[in-house]
Amino acid sequence: MSNRIHLLIVASLICCLIPTAHAETVATELECLGAARYLAATDAPSGRRYAPDREVQVLHLALDITPEFKQRILVGKATIRFRPIITPLRELKLDAVDLKVDSIAGTEHIQSHQVTDENIIITFAEVIAPGKEASVTITYRAEPAQGIYFRTPEMGYPEGDTHVFSQGEQIEARHWYPCLDAPNFMFTSEVTCRVPSDMTAISNGRLVSETKDAATGLTAFHWTQEKPHVNYLVTLCAGYFKKIEDKYEDLPLAFYAPASRIGYASNSFAGTKDMMAFFEHEIGVPYPWVKYDQICVYDFVAGGMENTSATTLNESTLFSADSENIRTSEGLVAHELAHQWFGDLVTCKDWSHIWLNEGFATYYQTLYNGHKNGRDAMLYELYGRSRQITGMSNDVNAIVRRTYNAPSEMFGYLAYPKGSWVLHMLRSQLGEELYRRCIKIYLERHQHGNVVTDDLRAVIEEQTGRSYDQFFDQWVYHAHHPELDATYSWDETTKLAKISIRQVQRVSDNVLLFSFPLTIRFTGDFGVKDQTIQVAMKEEDFYFPLESAPRIARLDPDLTLLAKVSFPVPAAMLGPQLTNQTDVIGRLLAVDQLGNRKDKDTVAKLKRSLGEDPFYGVRIEASRALRSIHTDEALDALLASTKQPDARVRRQVVSDIGNFYRDTAHASARSVLETEKNPAILAVAVENLAGYAKPETQATLLRFLESESFRNELAVAAIDAMRLQDDPAYIAPLLASLLKREAAYTSRGFAQALGALGYLARNEEKKDDVRDFIIGHVNSKKRAVQLASINALGTLGDPKAIAVLQTFTNAARESRERTAAARAVADLRAARRPVDDFKNLRQEVLDLQKSDRDLRKELDDLKKRIETWKKAPPAPATPTTKKKKQPPVTSPRNAAN
Ligand SMILES: [Zn+2]
Repeated sequence: MSNRIHLLIVASLICCLIPTAHAETVATELECLGAARYLAATDAPSGRRYAPDREVQVLHLALDITPEFKQRILVGKATIRFRPIITPLRELKLDAVDLKVDSIAGTEHIQSHQVTDENIIITFAEVIAPGKEASVTITYRAEPAQGIYFRTPEMGYPEGDTHVFSQGEQIEARHWYPCLDAPNFMFTSEVTCRVPSDMTAISNGRLVSETKDAATGLTAFHWTQEKPHVNYLVTLCAGYFKKIEDKYEDLPLAFYAPASRIGYASNSFAGTKDMMAFFEHEIGVPYPWVKYDQICVYDFVAGGMENTSATTLNESTLFSADSENIRTSEGLVAHELAHQWFGDLVTCKDWSHIWLNEGFATYYQTLYNGHKNGRDAMLYELYGRSRQITGMSNDVNAIVRRTYNAPSEMFGYLAYPKGSWVLHMLRSQLGEELYRRCIKIYLERHQHGNVVTDDLRAVIEEQTGRSYDQFFDQWVYHAHHPELDATYSWDETTKLAKISIRQVQRVSDNVLLFSFPLTIRFTGDFGVKDQTIQVAMKEEDFYFPLESAPRIARLDPDLTLLAKVSFPVPAAMLGPQLTNQTDVIGRLLAVDQLGNRKDKDTVAKLKRSLGEDPFYGVRIEASRALRSIHTDEALDALLASTKQPDARVRRQVVSDIGNFYRDTAHASARSVLETEKNPAILAVAVENLAGYAKPETQATLLRFLESESFRNELAVAAIDAMRLQDDPAYIAPLLASLLKREAAYTSRGFAQALGALGYLARNEEKKDDVRDFIIGHVNSKKRAVQLASINALGTLGDPKAIAVLQTFTNAARESRERTAAARAVADLRAARRPVDDFKNLRQEVLDLQKSDRDLRKELDDLKKRIETWKKAPPAPATPTTKKKKQPPVTSPRNAAN
């Protein structure tokens, strides 16, 4: 272990913080994709994954699709035009899962074809020479479990909103058309979709025609994507959509929603034009496609999907205006739009480099946040992500890695927030202008092509002359981040500030000792002084001569380093740091450090920040810190701070008050229910009531159960509170309400309600009504509802449900339903209490402990009596009873936590 000593002359004042001057809105952080998907086999015997060989270059894909909404199937015709690359081609092997092939034809004589579960293999009578263009056309039917998703009244969706949508990423396209399904094939495409004439169909690129066929009565929408893109970005959405439109310069913009939801669409669509202008300027490359559509669909597989020129969004992103600034689609819409460049114009060559799609989209969403809502908002987003990443305890994987079972595993925090942080560090080190130039060259050089991480590194090295090997090696090809233990001290005699820095992360084959620039900022009578040091060793001391003791000492004041930093400064420094209006991160860190103290002065400081800090994020964190201090004074400070003009802070304060079990906290929740108009805050206050087993609570929860609200969110909040109260008195009214109002719930909300019902009834002697109601949903065509009902049967603990559950466990193919049913059956068979039943488990443990103590005592008494018998003649015994100490009473609020 070495310990270098540096003596640095502090450079002149550098301060580049821009004060915030904009209203803040928080970005909704929704990942594009997360659903687990399966890959058949490893790509290499080593278990490592690589991009597949390309025997052919795919030139063009043409799809002609007719969805049959009633039967939820589609009839398709796919034509693939291709050219063998280097080897004469005898056999073309296409990815195709569960497609019923009717016919195969082509430009070449086809000798035979074979359809397996996962492929269509076409054998040509003669080999096709390299460079020769050829095509095959396959007509087929599909009843896909993936790739295409129907939303119809038969499935429980609103009658006039019937639609269907596709999902390609990662490898789902093969479930609805035959293809070469890997990201290293780029081709042009066209999609024709035939639907009833009152429906509409949307796909990639340009609408070529919309023609009605007199014979079938169907209207054919013919779309063409004339610029190359990859297979997983081919899209189709069709059904009863309504749209709103706008233009960015000459570029048509449209936003589609299911007909009954169009009234909410403008809230989510509003920012698109401004984002388009910002991204074109920031990226320096014009938007690459001919139009930009966004289509909202029910129960999408994720938050959104960036298909070229036609993004799909989850309908759950729509929001009502009465939630003020609490709900927003800004983050999601910006993320998907950024993908049109990063992911679509250039696409990662294989899934191991997915961060080049997701890290960029996440970072440009953050940059837009900064543009729209100010620098503080952007820093707050980066601060939150940094805490998320550095809070990961099992962080052993590198961002780029080749060992994964399914591509979906690569779509996690490494690709999204950590990828975005890598870009933020690059931008911070290069400076904005140079960074922009590099990104523009990277995009232009690889447009309509594949990229790997080295393509990005090569451009940066070329433009800067510097080596970026170490940067990418430590941040992208190795795992983890620096964990810094830093200390500060001041020597008045020598007038030296000393900062000691130790890298305490566990260094291994996976994790390196990091090397990075780090800025230290001192503020004092001398003004503001910055000095950038290079940290590279395990342990280093740095000395800074200053004219006088600084009032504030800050590490990485502009938040340019991804690291877990412990830097406790003396209490006297926290006050000035907490009120430094030019340093939002300093204020957030001061709030964080103050949250560990309990004295009245600290509470007073935090209360002031909660009431007066100009940035909403600091006010939110101050509220959280008061909650964690958890003294009476902290509660009083929160109770005095409920009148927050910013809804996001108001909700936080209401939520934090809910973490106290006091009469005053209860009164506050009731007062919110009387006065608050914002349903997102009302929902929190409803949940806050759960801790209080008061007669009026039940009436209030039942009132909200029957209330009308956007997405029925107040009823769902009431159900959550009922579950927490764990009172069987709620079973009958809840069951009655669910029977009556099922249609008012979202799939997720209703799923939650089924879970609560099973939970509340689990200790009842008679469970028939609840069991029958839940069983009535095990075949729901809404996936979330079906899974929830299977799980709820396990929770309910009624063995009479086993037979129904077994109909799922007997299924041939692995599925989430089968797994859930198997778990539920195992629970029921073992007559085991569900694992979340803490209250019962606790009671059982206490009962066991008590009987154990009783037995021991009886044994001891017996032993004593035997001893006494042995020593002396028996005397008339008077048994002594000792009052046992009662087990501690747990308040419902604690039980709920
Ligand atoms: Zn994404």
